[in-house]
Amino acid sequence: MADTKLYELLGVGRNASDAEIKKAYRKLAKEFHPDKNPAAGEQFKEISFAYEVLSNPEKRQIYDRYGMDGLKDGGGGGGFGGASMFEDMFGGFFNFPGMGGFGGRSQRRRGQDTVHPLKVTLEDLYNGKTSKLQLSKTVICKKCHGAGGRAGATMRCRTCSGRGIKVTLRQLGPGMVQQMQSICPDCHGEGECISDKDKCKECHGKKVVNETKILEVHVDKGMKNEQRIPFRGEGDQVPDVEPGDVIIILQQKPHEVFTRTGNDLFLTKTIGLTEALCGFSFVVRQLDGRDLVVSHPPGEVISPGMVKVVSGEGMPKYRNPFDKGNLVIKFDVKFPENNFTKEPKLKELEDILGRPPVEEMPEGEHVEEVNLVEYEETRDSGRGARGEAYDEDDEDMEGHGPRVQCAHQ
Ligand SMILES: [Zn+2]
Ligand SMILES: [Zn+2]
Repeated sequence: MADTKLYELLGVGRNASDAEIKKAYRKLAKEFHPDKNPAAGEQFKEISFAYEVLSNPEKRQIYDRYGMDGLKDGGGGGGFGGASMFEDMFGGFFNFPGMGGFGGRSQRRRGQDTVHPLKVTLEDLYNGKTSKLQLSKTVICKKCHGAGGRAGATMRCRTCSGRGIKVTLRQLGPGMVQQMQSICPDCHGEGECISDKDKCKECHGKKVVNETKILEVHVDKGMKNEQRIPFRGEGDQVPDVEPGDVIIILQQKPHEVFTRTGNDLFLTKTIGLTEALCGFSFVVRQLDGRDLVVSHPPGEVISPGMVKVVSGEGMPKYRNPFDKGNLVIKFDVKFPENNFTKEPKLKELEDILGRPPVEEMPEGEHVEEVNLVEYEETRDSGRGARGEAYDEDDEDMEGHGPRVQCAHQ
């Protein structure tokens, strides 16, 4: 059954002409305007809303076909503050389904999306975080509901006869006239204007006012640098335009210790030759504050550039945060500056080189013993040391190519 509520509000039939709708609205608006009839504020809102829809051919068509649902889904009711206003006005009358699914959206002019960067730390991306972002935007004026003035105050612009374009003729020479078009300066291209005395006191006829809004941005565990978090329809409100989205783009600040590739964390650890030969322990402060004690037994030599992995100590996976990537540690070995001609036993080497003071190991519940295992390159691990070495070889080969050809010629 067709929805005719808006027609009933204006007391006209479904086939009423634009002129009839306008006439009916003018009459009712006079009667119910809050200036004259403060008690009838709600009725005035309803009437204004009905007129706004039915006087706009596009909206009227949508309403005729889909009823209020169509207007709601299309972001409709341009002159109103969106869904909440709908519910205030028609609470109980209409049943609104959730967002989405309505094809009319593309027919409506849509405002531009607004993009805001949000700086986050690697810790934020590891642990998750809620950020509050203050946003300044234009919203439809609540006093005049986007009309810009009192009911019926909107006049067709006299300067441009409602076309929004001003045409000027310029005499270039005898019998030659140049026609120039420009945006009408009086109505700024809108084709209609409101006389100063009728302008809404709140928005001064601009139909919109500036508002500060706080957006709660949920940075989920495992989100990535450059990840976009959209807020649908939170862009600037302009009459008869579907507001664009506000899009938050995460920008991760560089971390002092870790770099990230996919879900893996990478760090470079510099150890001395003694440690490389005789074993070592060191502490890595994980992004959630845990101290990971990384130990390597004596005698298993760590050579410069060697890469080891601590399984499951990488970044949490987005939307599956209990599953984590790996912590990949690349070792730089710092060699002693003097040379050794003999081959002393490890113990003797230790005596000669001197062992750095043992790092004081933390104690308590936040301390975890972790193992170093062999590094195997996985798909989201990025490039390991081995892969880079091959790449360099490839480049060398290419570099040699032309020279070989030259030799043959
Ligand atoms: Zn004009
Ligand atoms: Zn206003």
